[in-house]
Amino acid sequence: MASTIFRNNLRIQKSFQFNKLFTSSSAKGQSLVTRNRIPVVEKPVRKNTNSVFNKGSVTSHQTYFYSQHKSQVKNTGISESKIIKDGKLVEIFWNDGKKSNFHSIWLRYNCQCSNCTQPGSGQKKIDNTQIAHDILLESVDIQDDMVYLKWKGEIEHQGQVSLDYLNENSYSEADIIRRHSAVRMTKLAKEIPVVNYTDVINSKEAVYNWLYQINEYGLCLMKDVPTEEKAFISLANKIGPIQETNYGKTFSVKSEPNPVNIAYSTEELTLHMDLVYLESPPGLQLLHCLRFDDEVKGGKSTYLDVFHVVEQFKVSHPESFQILTQIPATFQKCHYERENPFHLVYQKPHITLNDYKEVIGVHWAPPFEGPLLVEEKNVEKYYKAYKDLAQAIHNSDNLLTYLMKPGDLMTFNNHRMLHGRGEIHLNGGIRHFKGCYVCIDEFKCKVQVLSNQVGDGQPPIHVGNQSWL
Ligand SMILES: [Zn+2]
Repeated sequence: MASTIFRNNLRIQKSFQFNKLFTSSSAKGQSLVTRNRIPVVEKPVRKNTNSVFNKGSVTSHQTYFYSQHKSQVKNTGISESKIIKDGKLVEIFWNDGKKSNFHSIWLRYNCQCSNCTQPGSGQKKIDNTQIAHDILLESVDIQDDMVYLKWKGEIEHQGQVSLDYLNENSYSEADIIRRHSAVRMTKLAKEIPVVNYTDVINSKEAVYNWLYQINEYGLCLMKDVPTEEKAFISLANKIGPIQETNYGKTFSVKSEPNPVNIAYSTEELTLHMDLVYLESPPGLQLLHCLRFDDEVKGGKSTYLDVFHVVEQFKVSHPESFQILTQIPATFQKCHYERENPFHLVYQKPHITLNDYKEVIGVHWAPPFEGPLLVEEKNVEKYYKAYKDLAQAIHNSDNLLTYLMKPGDLMTFNNHRMLHGRGEIHLNGGIRHFKGCYVCIDEFKCKVQVLSNQVGDGQPPIHVGNQSWL
């Protein structure tokens, strides 16, 4: 199944049109940003059918569907529907030649009638202890853009679901391939995309462009941000609420004696992710340069797209790749000599996969590794595979480096971009950054909402939050 999907993907991806979406400047020069566009929705052409339901029942039944949602697939209307397998399945033949099957049980759980789904919120109200797993359909009736359903044994219940909903949520093999292709990480930043502060505070489109760059490339630099905390907090709030951690709502990265974190020293920081010892590490990190005196030397920021490294690693070291999806590493932060003592230990593999063996999570943070606690037979296997991945990361050609200047704000996806820093020589000067985090799901939500409101409705690509899709 998986191999079919990957083979077919190549064909499907090639058939997408590559259109220019945004042009943005980059940290080193101009770069053109494009994305696989998915066809824009046209007004659906739907079949007129004779129905047992009168016209009044159509307009009086409002079903829930995301009102500002832009569908990624054109609803061409249907040419035929058929109940088969004694009511277990409905075949829908769409006007564009596509075919979808919907199981009776799937339709029952996704019934959009106001008894089953709360119209305003879209939340389900069904009693899932009362629905038989082998429930059978009695009738399917299509009128305009609505599908009316009756199930055997449910005399009172008049089910309904819109054709838009079925079209959008079709789970035919072709639609599953399309859906997975649309959210795959395909781009690699060769340069750091750049946006301007004034643009972002003045238009929703510019906010979308900023977040789009972060979603596509894993990071984006914003220039000319006023060097005061409220400016950077209000930018974070354009994405979502600030995610508070044990380091506070915001944190200062300033070299100091006896730091609670190595980041607050002048030492080199090797490539890592932050707070990997949590169940859900913070998603986006915003790092704002407030001060960087001329006498300070070193301290260049480094970034590496670890998903790209791991995709290559999957091909170059299949065995080690496999091992790192199965044997869990230990991540920890245990530190008692501080105001709020830390004792956090979390076990998980470095790489997580979905049902199609696609990489959906990478966890890499050597400074926060704890003792490996796995079966004896796995210890040497783990360290061999670990070394292979460490080398792949170390040898990657795709390291991005940038020397922050006052007013620069770097925003990067902590689930995707490893980050580090060169050693700092203060020479009596001051280097001061302010940082905060925003939850990755809030970020993903904002990208989707803005895409629907001011973009073309395309979904965000994978953000490394381990969602299977
Ligand atoms: Zn219902």
